[in-house]
Amino acid sequence: MAIWNLGSINADMVYALPHLPAPGETLAASGLQRFLGGKGANMSVAAARAGAHVRHIGAVGSDGLWARDRLTEYGVDTRHIAQVDQPTGHAIIAVDAQGENLIILFPGANHAIGADQVSAALTDSDTGDLLVFQNETTAQVEAAKLGRERGLTVCYAAAPFSAPAVQAVLPYLDFLILNEVEAAQLQQATGLAPADLPVEHVIVTLGSKGARYHQRGQVAAEFPAHKVKAVDTTGAGDTFTGYVLAGMDRGMPMAQAITQANRAAALMVMRPGTADVIPDLKEVREAALD
Ligand code: AMP
Repeated sequence: MAIWNLGSINADMVYALPHLPAPGETLAASGLQRFLGGKGANMSVAAARAGAHVRHIGAVGSDGLWARDRLTEYGVDTRHIAQVDQPTGHAIIAVDAQGENLIILFPGANHAIGADQVSAALTDSDTGDLLVFQNETTAQVEAAKLGRERGLTVCYAAAPFSAPAVQAVLPYLDFLILNEVEAAQLQQATGLAPADLPVEHVIVTLGSKGARYHQRGQVAAEFPAHKVKAVDTTGAGDTFTGYVLAGMDRGMPMAQAITQANRAAALMVMRPGTADVIPDLKEVREAALD
């Protein structure tokens, strides 16, 4: 089975600054580092490191071919990542000496993905494959409908959160994952608590408290997080989702997939960095965690 991920690919440009710039101020950075990022790319890398066959549907510009190559290097099937006439999506991240940050996000090529690209890619999909998408690309609703039609398990990580975006895809979902804040926002918009959503599997991640799983019509189950020293929580949620999907794709019981995802995400919060440092399955299985 395969995981099809309609997902964003970003260049994260991290500038080190003495302080965050004030309006009108010109400031020289003392350093620049470039990382592979975007929720979509992070999830693809996580699921691939968890051992899944991941096929990414996305887009980059001519300035982002390195990002596509990096995904290939990390074991992701990139043949459905188009090269378009747009800048690659990127985040300009300013970080001051205290670690405070300021982020400018430009979607670029991530917003140049059309329904035709998604449907051309999914002609290669098989019944029972997983389809996942987040909220940093275009064409999610078309993908969700098509996924349903083709008998795929349709999964949505509702981030960055937008209530209308969730509502538009809700009728087509088999699996929804969101964090506590997003679950509260969704409840406010729809009047529906996670347990009452018309979706078979709903996971609410709870940060340092772990995750709660709602299977439709069943009592919710809690999965506590591991007690670790948090250094950088960036990418923890994406890693958690990638690991859960890889477990589902392998036919694991959900409880086992979530347990493994909690372990992978705990390792992520202990280290700086995102896609480049997502742990593989061996590391996740062998790590000594409380
Ligand atoms: P979040 O997106 O913040 O809800 O976190 C996603 C997942 O990352 C959680 O379900 C945990 O498995 C893990 N996680 C996040 N923060 C921590 C933490 N401080 N300690 C241990 N695990 C964490």
